Amino acid sequence: MDLFEGGCRCGRLRIMASGCPLRVGVCHCIDCRKHHGALFYAAAIFPSDAVEISGPSQGFADRFFCPTCGSAVFACSGSEVEVHLGCLDVPNQLTPTYECWVSWREGWLPEFKGMNRFDRDRDEFGQ
Ligand SMILES: [Zn+2]
Ligand SMILES: [Zn+2]
Repeated sequence: MDLFEGGCRCGRLRIMASGCPLRVGVCHCIDCRKHHGALFYAAAIFPSDAVEISGPSQGFADRFFCPTCGSAVFACSGSEVEVHLGCLDVPNQLTPTYECWVSWREGWLPEFKGMNRFDRDRDEFGQ
């Protein structure tokens, strides 16, 4: 079974997801920008029972980070956990297939080829 392991920068907050993610996407929305201090963010979404979290975490608006080093590691929504691709220990394990909130996309970014694009949230399109 596939295992995806990651964590915060200081190593106290760890996350492990197993199996196949439900989907992998990129988001450009203002909440993601502000939370990460980055221009966009990428996550793999797993069912919450496929994800194990260990160590202390602090949350704000369903987004969780390490209280020691501040790294943003995961987010929760309903029965799903968003595992941030940037906190995985090894790169190039998962590739996003869609982009949300492209209305907020930085104009200088190159096109991400082959990705579905949504002006706003993908849920509004019944996906
Ligand atoms: Zn940490
Ligand atoms: Zn977002």
